[in-house]
Amino acid sequence: MRCSVFTLALQAGLAIASPIDFPPAQLVARQVVDRPFNASLPNITIFATGGTIAGSASSSDQTTGYQAGALGVDLLLQAVPQLYNVSNPRGIQFANVGSSEVTPAMLVNLTQHIQRELDSPHCQGVVVTHGTDTLEETGFFLDLTVNSTKPVVMVGAMRPATAISADGPINLLEAVTLAASPAAAGRGAMVVLNDRIGSAYYTTKSNANMLDTFRAAEQGYLGFFLNIKPFFYFQPSLPVGKPMFDVSGAALDALPQVDVLYGHQGLDPALAKAAVAAGAKGLVLAGMGAGSWTKNGTAAIDEIVKESGTAVVYSRRSMDGSAGRSRGKGTYGSGTLNPQKTRIMLQLALEAGYDDEQLRALFEFEEE
Ligand code: ASP
Repeated sequence: MRCSVFTLALQAGLAIASPIDFPPAQLVARQVVDRPFNASLPNITIFATGGTIAGSASSSDQTTGYQAGALGVDLLLQAVPQLYNVSNPRGIQFANVGSSEVTPAMLVNLTQHIQRELDSPHCQGVVVTHGTDTLEETGFFLDLTVNSTKPVVMVGAMRPATAISADGPINLLEAVTLAASPAAAGRGAMVVLNDRIGSAYYTTKSNANMLDTFRAAEQGYLGFFLNIKPFFYFQPSLPVGKPMFDVSGAALDALPQVDVLYGHQGLDPALAKAAVAAGAKGLVLAGMGAGSWTKNGTAAIDEIVKESGTAVVYSRRSMDGSAGRSRGKGTYGSGTLNPQKTRIMLQLALEAGYDDEQLRALFEFEEE
C-alpha cells in the first residue's frame, strides 16, 4: 500500500523543475526491481552532488589528483547494498561536480528541492553526498534554510571510490542510517565522516588529506557510530543564536555577491575596493588574530562603507575564537563563525533585506 504511494511520490519528484544552467535534479535511481519496497523501513532521499565520494582514479593507490564527481548516484547506491537493510533509499542526481564548482544558485535550488522532499510525509530524511572541500558551506546553508525537524545529513569521502580502503561506502551507509534514525530529528543539518557526527553549523574541514578532517574543535561532536548505529552524546539542541532564512520562493540568482578577503602582513587595501567595483555587496574579512586588519586597510574599508554602504563583517583567519564586535558603522563582528560560514550568513541576510540593526543583532547577538 505504502509502496504505491511512494511510487507516486517518486513520480512527483521527477517533475521538480530546475530552471537554470546547471544539471537539473533528475531521478536516476530508485527502488531497484530486485529490492522490493520495505514498508517497515524509512524512505530516505539521497541528493548526489559529486565530490570525492563519487570520484574515480586510475589506480587504487591514487588518493589525490583524481577526478571528483565521476560516478553516478546509481553506482553509489549499488556499491552499498546494506543501505536497503536500513532504508528505502532513493537517489537523485542533483549535480556531479567537484565541490569548488557549487554555486550560490545551486544552494538555493538544493534547499528548495530538499524542502519539498521533507514536506512530503513519504520522506523521513535526506542525505546529501558532496565534495568535502566546500561541504561545510553547503551544510551551513542547508542548516539555515531547510525548515524541518527531519534529518538532513551531509556526507563525503576523503578517498575516491576507486581507492583501496575507500571511505565513501561506510560513510554513506552511516549517513543514511543516521537520516533514518528517529534520534536524529530536531538537530539541524549534520555532517558524517569517519564514524563521527558533527553539527553542520560548526563543523569545518581541518585537514586537506586525512580521514578525520571534519571537526568543530571548540564545540565538539554530536555523536559517533558504533556498528554503524548512531550514538548521540546529547539530547537534540540547536546552536545558540542560529537564525533561519526562507529561500523557498527565492529566485535562484537571488543571493548577492559576498567576497572574502584574507588578512596578512602588508595586505593591499586596494583589493577591497576592487571587490566592490566587481559587484560585491558584502565583504568578509578573514582578519588576523581576533580579526585585526591593517591601519590603511581599515581606512579603505571605512571609506567603502561610507561611499557604497557595503556590509563588512570582520571574521578571523585563526582556526577558532571570536572576531569581536563592530569596528564602526556598517561593520560587524562575525561572532564565532569562520569566514566561509560568515560569507553564507551575510549573503542570506542581505538577500532577506536586513538593515544595519538587524545585521548587528544577527552577528553580534548576546546570550540572554
Ligand atoms: N577533494 C574533494 C573531496 O574530498 C573534492 C571536492 O570537494 O569535490 O570531495
